[in-house]
Amino acid sequence: MSQFIGPEEILRKKKEYMIPCVYHFFQEPMQLVRGSMQHLYDQNGKEYLDCFAGVSVVNCGHCNPDITKEICKQVETLQHTCTIYLTEPIVNLAESLAQVTPGELQKTFFCSSGTEANEGAALLATLHTNHHEFIALRQGLHGRTKLTMSLTGIGMWRTDPSPVGGIHFAPNAYCYRCPLGKRHPECNLACADEIENVIKFSTSGQVAAFFAEPIQGNGGIITPPAGYFQRVKEILDHYGILLVMDEVQTGFGRTGKWFACEHYGINPDIMTMAKALGNGTPVGAFTATAAVADSYTRPGASTLGGNPVTATASLATLRYLKEHNLPERAAKLGAYLKKGLQELQQRHPAIGDVRGLGLMLGAEIILPDGSAAGDWVDAILEDLKNKGFLIGKNGPGRNVLAFQPPLVIEERDLARLLDALDDSLAKICS
Ligand code: PMP
Repeated sequence: MSQFIGPEEILRKKKEYMIPCVYHFFQEPMQLVRGSMQHLYDQNGKEYLDCFAGVSVVNCGHCNPDITKEICKQVETLQHTCTIYLTEPIVNLAESLAQVTPGELQKTFFCSSGTEANEGAALLATLHTNHHEFIALRQGLHGRTKLTMSLTGIGMWRTDPSPVGGIHFAPNAYCYRCPLGKRHPECNLACADEIENVIKFSTSGQVAAFFAEPIQGNGGIITPPAGYFQRVKEILDHYGILLVMDEVQTGFGRTGKWFACEHYGINPDIMTMAKALGNGTPVGAFTATAAVADSYTRPGASTLGGNPVTATASLATLRYLKEHNLPERAAKLGAYLKKGLQELQQRHPAIGDVRGLGLMLGAEIILPDGSAAGDWVDAILEDLKNKGFLIGKNGPGRNVLAFQPPLVIEERDLARLLDALDDSLAKICS
């Protein structure tokens, strides 16, 4: 008899005891019971190469022994107090974030998720500017609370039937299907200029902040062209609007640099982080320049935010990323994987576009008429899973294959993945 209850019993309990919005991947899902660096194992001991990392979370690998050791030591010593008492890991982590984040970002507030980080960043921007409106990008995703869901520009994730007002959307830099019907580079970054039109024609002019992911994750690995964010920042500075960069999915080496906004040479006023910061322990944070951060002086607290265990896990994660040069590794392995995907694109017309930076890559799968091939993507994910590879999917048409593996993955793993994908594409997409 197996020691595990198995997928069928999990599905039964899930149906009976969990709110049905919590959905899962796969027609025939497995029970995951163990993880080790880039690998996951199911109830039967089958090994999977994890190429999604729990959605950009375990950048340093599953149950990374160096990080786990630090977590265990901290759990046995002091698990929780709350920010009303003084402890050391939280301030050391804040200091480390000031060092690794770009520009003048310096002061941090800790919470427990990416959603909370964005919610807090919005509050801070409001306090600093005394303005109340926001601008966000179509196809962005910023969370699942009332405000952050209202800032989200993907219909599928906007469940709330009464979203918050005062939020305006600008077209995103989706060059493969340009929302303005233009082509890059002849467009001369017209989508960035559209932000000025939104400010002038849709808002009262009293805008607190512009929210954007440097690369839109759930939106389909939408990767703006060079120069885009520089133009955006110029416009925002002209109107006194803060730039909030949501690095929840892109941060901590994923794209080949510590933070994806560094590819674009701009410094945000506020940066939000979560996911990979704790390598799987629940931590979120927003970091701002001292000038912006110092506007938030009334008492604020988060019971679990930056508690000794998550702060220790995060410190161990930052150390591991640094000591093992994982951002550079992501750049190198990402270039290898991107080239491999582009080669597959030559042979498989179903791959309409390959995009992304570092180990945050997407392949948009299309039908012969160019429309979204969501069913093919589901079949590819299922087939790859059966062959022992887990990849993700995203995009409004759910037709973008997402490759976001732990950054400790090996080149030979990626070579095997490309072979398996080649086979799946040949079998499914015709
Ligand atoms: N921002 C981005 C860019 C995200 O991808 C996500 C989650 N997918 C969130 C915010 C919300 O993070 P969390 O699930 O930790 O609340």
